Amino acid sequence: MTLPTDLAGRPVIVGAGLAGLLCALRLSPAPCVLASRAPLGTEGSSAWAQGGIAAAVGADDSPALHHDDTLVAGDGLCDPDTVRAVTAAGPEVIALLSRYGVRFDRASDGTLATGLEAAHSRRRIVHAAGDATGAEIVRALAEAVRATPSIAVIERACLVAIATDGQGGPVRGAVLLVDGERVLLPTARLILATGGVGGLFRDTTNPPGATGTGLAAAARAGARLGELEFVQFHPTALAAGAVASAPLPLVSEAVRGEGAILVDETGARFTEELAPRDVVSRAVWHHLLAGHRVFLDARTVLGSHFAVRFPGIDAACRARGIDPATMPIPVRPAAHYHMGGVLVDADGRSTVPGLYACGEVACTGLHGANRLASNSLLEAAAGAIAVARAIAAAPVPVPASRLLPDAVTASRSDTLATVRQAMSRSAGVLRDAAGLEAAIATLLPLAPADDAALVGLMVCVAAHDRTESRGGHFRTDHPGRDALPIRRSLTATEALSRAAAIIAPARKLAS
Ligand SMILES: Cc1cc2nc3c(=O)[nH]c(=O)nc-3n(C[C@H](O)[C@H](O)[C@H](O)COP(=O)(O)OP(=O)(O)OC[C@H]3O[C@@H](n4cnc5c(N)ncnc54)[C@H](O)[C@@H]3O)c2cc1C
Repeated sequence: MTLPTDLAGRPVIVGAGLAGLLCALRLSPAPCVLASRAPLGTEGSSAWAQGGIAAAVGADDSPALHHDDTLVAGDGLCDPDTVRAVTAAGPEVIALLSRYGVRFDRASDGTLATGLEAAHSRRRIVHAAGDATGAEIVRALAEAVRATPSIAVIERACLVAIATDGQGGPVRGAVLLVDGERVLLPTARLILATGGVGGLFRDTTNPPGATGTGLAAAARAGARLGELEFVQFHPTALAAGAVASAPLPLVSEAVRGEGAILVDETGARFTEELAPRDVVSRAVWHHLLAGHRVFLDARTVLGSHFAVRFPGIDAACRARGIDPATMPIPVRPAAHYHMGGVLVDADGRSTVPGLYACGEVACTGLHGANRLASNSLLEAAAGAIAVARAIAAAPVPVPASRLLPDAVTASRSDTLATVRQAMSRSAGVLRDAAGLEAAIATLLPLAPADDAALVGLMVCVAAHDRTESRGGHFRTDHPGRDALPIRRSLTATEALSRAAAIIAPARKLAS
């Protein structure tokens, strides 16, 4: 398999969710390549986003208020400059997406309709088609991409490695698996927009392909990854009719925003529904561990209006025999969003020259220890715009052609099952040193040759070494928080040697 030679040297964007599609559009009319494992619009979390996109567009709102809410949720680990820039960009992002054809829901006077979600002090969640915001955004952007001749779309192309001049050296190309064959696409500018890691957990709201292959490729190329321990668990995934290893449908926080309550099998409330997500997830998890069942009850506040306001969630419930108008919805926490990722600066530049990242795969410092609901679509859009701007402003480098590096193949499914089991047992809502050490012992031998195991290992090492509880990371053996919030990052090499050191005492005892 050979790719057209005129594609060599163009910026290569990998991933076709909101971040990848918008980055390609913002680079135009300059030529670029958009490589995606699946046909445009058919894989990725973006198309599944329900609640909407946070932006201070209301008359009673301001970017400053949005900024303050984001900092509170981030629990001391946000980068204040990033928070300021991204929240300020909110209204312009909505205007830009509208210009690309996204049809946001509007009131009868034409103003944007806004919803409320937990830990937002104002109604600022801009949505489309009720609870189908992501699908509408991806529809419009994919159409715009297909109509833009400067964007060469390569579908069914999976990034398996990044070619560099030595470990951590400048980017020389993207190694793609196309039609089962590895090909090198020479480029000095590679933009990762490959999404999150929820697929590494048994219970997840993410598409199954969200196993961190982009993160692994960046790590193997020598990039620093930041805040990996911070995974957000959504408290209300639909816990009915679950199929092994299939994602759990999400029951959006917007449902609680409309007043639905969390109850157990006795009908008793046990938590504050609009507390930050990590707090609600832990409350639900503790209640489940105590032997209760947990339900989201929207009967009184929404009743028959549920199907109108949340048609997608209504359909998912009905497919599992639940009518939200008349029945409480069974729910449980599930891995939902990764605050950590490829460490990038304000322009989306990683620590590897020529390697950029935007969207969920990136760690920009916006979310800190905990993402404020609906800030991720905003971050994906703002990050994509920033990367495209930075690339357009930089001189065009000349890529050197190079032999294929010794790329790692995609995870085998039996290994993925092992990774999921280890991550779900040890790196879930509640963590402790013993559990994390057990997961590290399982994952370390697999990590050199398996991408899912490498990413899982790096998450567990970061979680092991954060001996405090903060945001989405809760250690039952260290429930307090350190006085000084510290942001951390690590490379794959550091993680592998740290993992070996962590499990060395147990190995010594066993021998
Ligand atoms: C059910 C659900 C509901 C959500 N609701 C909201 C919400 O209401 N508001 C909000 O702000 N956020 C929400 N989120 C989070 C948000 O959707 C994501 O953070 C965001 O869409 C990520 O966008 P992205 O472009 O970075 O990645 P994605 O949209 O996940 O796209 C990743 C792309 O990368 C491709 N890819 C991955 N690996 C490779 C590879 N190795 N080679 C080639 N291609 C690859 C995939 O095929 C896909 O095209 C939700 C998430 C889920 C799962």
